[in-house]
Amino acid sequence: MPIANNPSEMPVKIDAEKCIADKGCTVCIDVCPLDVLRINPANGKAHMRYDECWYCLPCAIDCPTKAVTVAIPYLLR
Ligand code: SF4
Ligand code: SF4
Repeated sequence: MPIANNPSEMPVKIDAEKCIADKGCTVCIDVCPLDVLRINPANGKAHMRYDECWYCLPCAIDCPTKAVTVAIPYLLR
Protein backbone atom coordinates (compact mmCIF):
# COMPACT_ATOMS: atom_id res chain seq x y z
CA MET A 1 0.00 0.00 0.00
CA PRO A 2 1.38 3.46 -0.81
CA ILE A 3 2.55 5.51 2.14
CA ALA A 4 0.49 8.67 2.68
CA ASN A 5 3.19 11.31 2.40
CA ASN A 6 1.00 14.38 1.99
CA PRO A 7 -1.64 14.50 4.76
CA SER A 8 -3.42 17.49 3.19
CA GLU A 9 -4.37 15.38 0.17
CA MET A 10 -5.62 12.35 2.09
CA PRO A 11 -9.34 11.46 2.08
CA VAL A 12 -9.30 10.92 5.83
CA LYS A 13 -8.34 13.86 8.00
CA ILE A 14 -7.99 13.74 11.75
CA ASP A 15 -8.26 16.89 13.82
CA ALA A 16 -5.25 16.69 16.12
CA GLU A 17 -6.90 19.14 18.54
CA LYS A 18 -9.82 16.76 19.06
CA CYS A 19 -7.98 13.43 18.83
CA ILE A 20 -7.34 11.80 22.23
CA ALA A 21 -4.99 9.07 21.01
CA ASP A 22 -2.40 10.46 23.41
CA LYS A 23 -4.80 9.44 26.21
CA GLY A 24 -5.00 5.87 24.91
CA CYS A 25 -7.76 5.95 22.30
CA THR A 26 -7.18 3.69 19.28
CA VAL A 27 -10.79 3.27 18.13
CA CYS A 28 -10.37 4.45 14.54
CA ILE A 29 -7.23 2.37 14.10
CA ASP A 30 -8.97 -0.71 15.47
CA VAL A 31 -12.13 -0.44 13.36
CA CYS A 32 -10.55 0.33 9.98
CA PRO A 33 -10.85 -2.81 7.83
CA LEU A 34 -7.92 -1.71 5.65
CA ASP A 35 -5.61 -1.00 8.60
CA VAL A 36 -4.47 2.30 7.10
CA LEU A 37 -4.65 4.48 10.22
CA ARG A 38 -1.85 4.73 12.76
CA ILE A 39 -0.61 6.80 15.64
CA ASN A 40 1.67 9.52 14.32
CA PRO A 41 4.88 9.32 16.38
CA ALA A 42 5.48 13.02 15.72
CA ASN A 43 2.48 14.18 17.76
CA GLY A 44 0.91 11.07 19.35
CA LYS A 45 -2.34 11.54 17.42
CA ALA A 46 -4.01 9.31 14.84
CA HIS A 47 -3.37 9.92 11.15
CA MET A 48 -3.78 8.25 7.78
CA ARG A 49 -0.60 6.27 7.24
CA TYR A 50 -1.44 4.53 3.97
CA ASP A 51 -3.14 6.07 0.96
CA GLU A 52 -6.01 3.62 0.64
CA CYS A 53 -9.63 3.91 1.74
CA TRP A 54 -12.95 2.15 1.19
CA TYR A 55 -14.97 5.15 2.44
CA CYS A 56 -16.83 2.79 4.75
CA LEU A 57 -16.85 5.37 7.60
CA PRO A 58 -16.59 3.46 10.91
CA CYS A 59 -13.49 5.50 11.74
CA ALA A 60 -15.57 8.69 11.60
CA ILE A 61 -18.74 7.26 13.14
CA ASP A 62 -17.04 5.54 16.08
CA CYS A 63 -14.54 8.27 17.00
CA PRO A 64 -15.60 9.42 20.49
CA THR A 65 -14.55 13.03 19.88
CA LYS A 66 -15.66 13.36 16.23
CA ALA A 67 -12.10 14.10 15.18
CA VAL A 68 -12.26 12.11 11.94
CA THR A 69 -13.50 13.53 8.64
CA VAL A 70 -13.78 11.34 5.56
CA ALA A 71 -14.02 13.14 2.22
CA ILE A 72 -16.10 10.81 0.08
CA PRO A 73 -15.36 11.26 -3.64
CA TYR A 74 -18.21 12.77 -5.63
CA LEU A 75 -18.67 9.68 -7.81
CA LEU A 76 -19.24 7.46 -4.77
CA ARG A 77 -21.92 9.61 -3.15
S1 SF4 B 1 -11.00 7.37 17.33
FE1 SF4 B 1 -10.84 9.62 17.28
S2 SF4 B 1 -9.95 10.19 19.27
FE2 SF4 B 1 -9.62 7.98 18.97
S3 SF4 B 1 -7.56 7.83 18.04
FE3 SF4 B 1 -9.05 7.90 16.35
S4 SF4 B 1 -9.21 10.08 15.82
FE4 SF4 B 1 -8.24 9.96 17.82
S1 SF4 C 1 -13.33 5.17 5.80
FE1 SF4 C 1 -13.06 2.95 6.20
S2 SF4 C 1 -11.25 2.35 5.02
FE2 SF4 C 1 -11.25 4.59 5.12
S3 SF4 C 1 -9.94 5.03 6.91
FE3 SF4 C 1 -12.07 4.98 7.64
S4 SF4 C 1 -12.42 2.89 8.36
FE4 SF4 C 1 -10.55 2.90 7.08
